[in-house]
Amino acid sequence: LVRLTGVNKHFGDLHVLRDINLTVRRGEVVVVIGPSGSGKSTLCRTINRLEPIDAGTITIDGRELPAEGKDLARLRAEVGMVFQSFNLFAHKTILENVTLGPVKAKGIKAAEAKQRAMSLLERVGVANQAGKHPAQLSGGQQQRVAIARALAMQPKVMLFDEPTSALDPEMITEVLDVMTSLAREGMTMIVVTHEMGFARKAADRVIFMDAGQIVEEASPEEFFTNPRSERAKDFLSKLL
Ligand code: ATP
Ligand code: MG
Repeated sequence: LVRLTGVNKHFGDLHVLRDINLTVRRGEVVVVIGPSGSGKSTLCRTINRLEPIDAGTITIDGRELPAEGKDLARLRAEVGMVFQSFNLFAHKTILENVTLGPVKAKGIKAAEAKQRAMSLLERVGVANQAGKHPAQLSGGQQQRVAIARALAMQPKVMLFDEPTSALDPEMITEVLDVMTSLAREGMTMIVVTHEMGFARKAADRVIFMDAGQIVEEASPEEFFTNPRSERAKDFLSKLL
């Protein structure tokens, strides 16, 4: 569903993505881990072209991501993204946050968008907050709204960049639970996270990045019990 071939990217002198080759199949959950600065966020951001790349190709569902233009907007709408900071529209209600995209970008009628938004808010457990503004919600609730907002665009793949790392411990579980059920329902997901419990439970595959490269790719079981590379061993030993 998502394929990166020979993707390279620099920030000035910094070679931040080195020859990334990655294929994510439909329904697959790929967890990306690695040390700070290894390029995980940049990888996510290139997948929907929030960041341009210097070389290589990225295809979503068989179609190459163009550098710009109308096709890019259309393809980008197929990739939902959830960030560490929730990035909700502060001056809109929770319900408006979830209906805005479908109405504006996809031309869905207001009544239908509202109905769908309410069922998504229900699904992530915050339907009773629909009339409030983001600042009135806890971090965990806001992040679940952010997930509902991304899902409202009916993406083919969801990208999560450390969705729980800005949250208090007691709120992490509620967000991970939503992500786990999304994974079980067959959503294709690429998840950058330090939550190894989630990786073990929900990932089909773990990717370990270091210094802009994919160093290791394995099933969670393999990766956690028997990492092959020294760098992965080192990384895991520091986590425990
Ligand atoms: P973390 O775990 O801390 O989130 P990461 O693996 O997500 O790290 P990236 O944010 O992708 O790492 O950054 C990779 C490298 O690229 C870092 O050295 C970072 O300083 C650099 N970098 C990221 N964004 C930019 C930018 N817009 N301009 C210049 N350098 C950048
Ligand atoms: Mg990051």
